[in-house]
Amino acid sequence: MLRLIILLATFALTTSVQAQSSKRPIPAKQHFGFAAAGSPHQPEAVGFYTRGCLAGGTALPVNGPAWQAMRLSRNRNWGHPEMVKFLKKFAMDTQKFGWPGLLIGDISQPRGGPMLSGHQSHQMGLDADIWYMPMPKRRLTWDERENTSAIPLAGSRSVTVTNNWKPGYVKLLRLAAQNPKVQRILTHPAVKKKLCLSETGNKRWLSKIRPVYGHNYHFHVRLFCPEGSTGCRAQKPTPKDHGCGAPLDYWLKLFTNPPKPTKPSKPRKPRPVRTIDWLPTACKTVLKADRPELLAASVAPKTGLQVRPRRNPRRR
Ligand SMILES: [Zn+2]
Repeated sequence: MLRLIILLATFALTTSVQAQSSKRPIPAKQHFGFAAAGSPHQPEAVGFYTRGCLAGGTALPVNGPAWQAMRLSRNRNWGHPEMVKFLKKFAMDTQKFGWPGLLIGDISQPRGGPMLSGHQSHQMGLDADIWYMPMPKRRLTWDERENTSAIPLAGSRSVTVTNNWKPGYVKLLRLAAQNPKVQRILTHPAVKKKLCLSETGNKRWLSKIRPVYGHNYHFHVRLFCPEGSTGCRAQKPTPKDHGCGAPLDYWLKLFTNPPKPTKPSKPRKPRPVRTIDWLPTACKTVLKADRPELLAASVAPKTGLQVRPRRNPRRR
């Protein structure tokens, strides 16, 4: 009899352990990657550029008088209304000095958050990629927007720009960097070098141009936390110096004389799954606002920042 009891108890324990292990945590990017539209809240950037979400996001129209959005299947033409406003005005202003207009790449997903592919940042609707390729005169088809390759301004580890460089790029980046809403602009070191050499006037704006890996096909504009986004964490300001000296040399040296790769002493541990709990609590509200089925009951919101309901839910 005792044997039977022990056998039954062991069986019950094994089944419960198996049931537990089959409950795999769902990565937050899966929730956010499939949200089709903005949340019905007042606009608010929540968290940080690399760890946050977007309440009340607005879509940048895919066509405008001075811009066209690219890679439409990704549905990443959503941003904080401040970003959408900035992009529209910036695009129009570039035409004042003869630039043909902008091709706009990824901004954010409708509710921001981590993405299923690419990008560490772009999570709060305050980051936008702008292609270096000028907008063509005609309207591109859906297929062209999916398949056209961007033109690079430099090779990925090159320290000089290619023949695709045009003097208009100085005006383009200067205009963006001088906008007080712009926190920083990320671009390839060769582009920064060319800008430093080309600017004969005041170099102050160049402090916002930050060299980084990649970014040879596009530049990345990041806005400051907008007013009213109390849950948005500011990024450290860029140094006051224009960065054309030692900070740029550091990057150029990195490309001409890259350090030899070192073997890690221990195999790297796999990164834990970043579930919705990894994000600020308010992101749960943003995500599940009108689609509670997106979230399991196990992740009910805790206390924390409250996202305010949108006054006019139809206004996107
Ligand atoms: Zn970007």
